[in-house]
Amino acid sequence: MTASIYPPPASGSWLDVDLQALCDNAASLRARAGVPLIAMVKADGYGLGAVAVARALGAAFADPAFRAEHTQFAGDLLWGLGIATLAEAKVLRDAGCTARILCCTPLLPAEFVDAIALDVRPSLHTPAAIEYWVAQRGGAWHLPIDTGMARAGVRWDEVAALRPALSQALQAGRAPEGMFTHFHSAEVEDGSRETQEARFADAGSMLREMLPASLLIHTDNSAAIAMRGVAVRSAATLVRPGIAIYGAQQLATLALQQTVHLRARIVDVRDVFVGEGVGYGATYVAAGMRRIATVPVGYGDGYRRHLSNRGEGLLRGVRIPVVGRVSMDMTTLDVTGVPAVVGDVITLIGADGGQLLTTDEVAARGGLSPYELLVGLRLRLPRLYRDLAGMRDRDASRPTAAYPPLRLA
Ligand SMILES: *Cc1c(COP(=O)(O)O)cnc(C)c1O
Repeated sequence: MTASIYPPPASGSWLDVDLQALCDNAASLRARAGVPLIAMVKADGYGLGAVAVARALGAAFADPAFRAEHTQFAGDLLWGLGIATLAEAKVLRDAGCTARILCCTPLLPAEFVDAIALDVRPSLHTPAAIEYWVAQRGGAWHLPIDTGMARAGVRWDEVAALRPALSQALQAGRAPEGMFTHFHSAEVEDGSRETQEARFADAGSMLREMLPASLLIHTDNSAAIAMRGVAVRSAATLVRPGIAIYGAQQLATLALQQTVHLRARIVDVRDVFVGEGVGYGATYVAAGMRRIATVPVGYGDGYRRHLSNRGEGLLRGVRIPVVGRVSMDMTTLDVTGVPAVVGDVITLIGADGGQLLTTDEVAARGGLSPYELLVGLRLRLPRLYRDLAGMRDRDASRPTAAYPPLRLA
């Protein structure tokens, strides 16, 4: 019986998060980029848990016992963490995180007081915002340059308008700590990255005498790190990867490992007969007698409805199709020909028995971006963190039933 070997968590469905794989991905990114990371942990660590991710990556935490336990990245893997809202920063600070935190999304002036209290570095790109931050005695901040994304940052050809505010900041001892831009199509070689880089360089020269010599420069997200030839280095001193840390958006140059495994135990097995439908709308109709297994996971858990009749699962290392509509709380799969009893574990994303459903593959099957698929997983599923103490079955060649117990976070 699988249950005695693989202790059941508090739920019939859960996420196994492989923190060792996550660290390996971060180390690969660090090696390829050649500079430390601002690890993007926005949207609760892309759905996998920002605090656990930050800890695994060796971000500074106040808790000394914790620090002694996690020495894997004593070096310069991380410069800091990237977030999008102050609520995200608060979660990290409340957990004792003392690492540098950069907020890449513009904040409202009304949020500056909280940003200062949380020791968050904001991204400031208007004269009013810079002046207000300096007046509030805010600390380090970064200057975002819009080089073609047109959603935040000062336009590269309008940076001159910032000169008065920047020289005021400089006089107050509050020159920006960093300057950055963001690429709109880093995953393709269409010349747009080079155009954006040239604009970024122009903006930098335009402001040169208002910027400190120690200015940090960062431009690259995951795809830019992967696509940029190792020989062709930019002037960047940091990079800002997100998705690749979590093992998704695989590009050829980085051998990313799967970090997330969505598992669910079978709660019902039944036969359906020729001509009978399965699920809402009876979108699947059995062409012959089929054996249908139900797992307690659905779009309420982030297993998206787009995967209806398109997703696949792994049962004992065998691929089985999702049949019928994914509903809010349940999903049905065709297990005909595969031994299946209530309690057996089906993997909907990730590895089982030598087979792998990558986040990218599952997203593609549903016509989703891997980003949406990942961040959606934070809705309801408990997370079990496979930690860094060597509990991991590295080759994933054994079936799920043989996995060692995991810690429920
Ligand atoms: C989300 C984000 C990133 C990370 O992008 P990935 O494609 O996930 O690597 C980097 N920079 C900014 C400004 C972002 O918003």
